[in-house]
Formats: sequence, structure tokens, C-alpha cells
Amino acid sequence: MPNTPEPPPSRLIGLIGAGIGPSLSPALHEREADEQGLRYLYRRLDLNELGLAPDRVGDLLEAARLTGYTGLNITHPVKQLVMAHLDGVAEEASVLGAVNTVLFKGGKAFGYNTDTSGFARSVMTGLVGAPMDAVVVLGAGGAGAAVVHALLAVGAGSVRVLDLDPVRTDRLVDALGGHFGRDRVSGGAAADLEAALAEADGLVHATPTGMREHPGTAVPPALLRPDLWVADVVYRPLETELLAAARARGCRTLDGGKMAVFQAVDSFRLFTGVEPDADRMLRHFDALTAGPKEAPAHA
Ligand code: NAD
Repeated sequence: MPNTPEPPPSRLIGLIGAGIGPSLSPALHEREADEQGLRYLYRRLDLNELGLAPDRVGDLLEAARLTGYTGLNITHPVKQLVMAHLDGVAEEASVLGAVNTVLFKGGKAFGYNTDTSGFARSVMTGLVGAPMDAVVVLGAGGAGAAVVHALLAVGAGSVRVLDLDPVRTDRLVDALGGHFGRDRVSGGAAADLEAALAEADGLVHATPTGMREHPGTAVPPALLRPDLWVADVVYRPLETELLAAARARGCRTLDGGKMAVFQAVDSFRLFTGVEPDADRMLRHFDALTAGPKEAPAHA
């Protein structure tokens, strides 16, 4: 019998979350895989459509493992809940207490957090040379935690995180202070924003305000000044009220689109072992969000 060459490996990826119908992740991942000549399918596993409560995420993870999925992206509202069902967790995900990427290896499930590496790369490419001695992060939820971790990892001197919920702030400050040094991260109330910004080089906004469903801005424009850089994690729309006000004041700005793309870049590398073309994925994201059907990468 003639030797037939081994078929190239195929990858099956899933996205677990609630209300993920408009997610751009399938398109972003599959287009890049096509460009790389990989066999790659990216399926949505929507808890709402499946009629599963978030606490059933373990069942869905197990189903994916048994049916031969290569890996999963995990999004709202199960980034924390999924952790109890994993066999191993990367350091950054363990510190953050949140996972957005799961890789199956040897029948076991390993968790990673590429939101934080995605924001870190976004800052390193989008805010080159910006001062980082003191940064304020507004919002201590899932995105805010990833942002604070990323800022400390890329060398910000100190980060002050402010939230309406003191329990969330304290938990985050405790976890990240223990990892990066207690002198580098502090917490406060949302009402401390004006005083905190007076001493800051930059601001990262990480609350849901400014999203299409939650219009407005959590930062009074009067607090913005030209020497303050301003980043937003919100990317639906890319041009939030906050970023528009910041640009009008002459601030350097960074939108949430790059974080969304770079987390996908890092997940793709984990799923395939192949280095994706990040610039190509950024251009694809721009094309996908340019039209009227703008939607987020994950949900
Ligand atoms: P979340 O619900 O986990 O956290 C939001 C936090 O903001 C909460 O702790 C809440 O108390 C706090 N908050 C709300 N209003 C506030 C205010 N006025 N002042 C201070 N704190 C306030 O939400 P999340 O998952 O962190 O998502 C936040 C935003 O980040 C969403 O718009 C989401 O789409 C976006 N996001 C973007 C990316 C990306 O890749 N760009 C990734 C994840 C999330």
C-alpha cells in the first residue's frame, strides 16, 4: 500500500458565554486560521440558547472535553465559575481568579487569562512612551482586574483602582498587591476619582458605562486634562463618549478594540501553537466593526 501522508490536524474551538450571538470571535479566529492554512472551526456554545444556567458551565466544559474540542474561550458570566472545573490554571489566571481561555491537553483542562496579556500588548503598542508612574483604573470587575494586572506587569509604578463596590476593590487590591507588591496597588471609592486623577499620568475606564446599552460616561469631562492619557476597555462602540471627550481635550487615547483583538491573538496561539498575524487580525476587526453590524469580539 502506498504511504498516504498524515492529514493535517484539525482544531475545534468553542465559546461559552451567555448572549454571545453577536460575538466576532468566530469570524476573527476562523479567518486567521484560513489565512494560516489550518483546519479550524469555532463554534458558539451559548448558555441562553442551550437553556443552561451559568452554574452548569462544568457540564458544558465536560461535554466539550469528551467530544474532542481543542479548547474554549470563556466569557461573561462564567469566567470565574469555570475555574472550579479545571485541572490546572496559569499563574495570571490564578492571581485574577478568572479564566477566558481553556486548552484541553491529554484529556485535562487548563485555564489561561488572555484578557490581561491582551491589554498589556494593547498598551505596549498603543501607548508607546506614555508615562506610567501613576495610573487610575475605574472599575474593579472582570475587565478592570485584567487591566490592573496588565498595567502592573508592564511596569506601571502604581495603580489606584476605584469602584462603587468596596468588596470588589478590596479583593482585587489584596490579590494583586500580594503578587506585585502592596506598595504598587491601592483601592478607593468612585468618589475619590477627582483626587486620584489629579496625581495620575493616565486613566483606564473599565466600567460598562459608554456601551451602547449603557450610554454616557462615568468620568466627568471636566476632570480630563491634555497631559492625562485615557484608555477605554469598552469597544461597542469603539468611540465612547469618554474617548470623544478626552480627544476634544487633547488627551492621548486608546480604544478597547486592541485589547479585544490581542486577547484573541493570544488565545489563537494557545489553541494552535501557531503565531497568528496580529496586524492582519486587527485589520479584520476594523473591517468587521466598520459597518452597521458592529459587535464585540466575545459577547
Ligand atoms: P463587571 O460587571 O465585571 O465590572 C464592572 C465594574 O464596574 C463593577 O465592579 C461595578 O461596580 C463597577 N462600576 C460600575 N459603574 C461604576 C462607576 N460609575 N464608578 C466606579 N465603578 C463602577 O464588567 P466587566 O466584565 O469588567 O466589563 C466592563 C466593560 O469592559 C464592559 O463594557 C465590557 O464589554 C468591557 N470588556 C472589554 C474587553 C476588551 O477586550 N476590550 C474585555 C472584557 C470586558
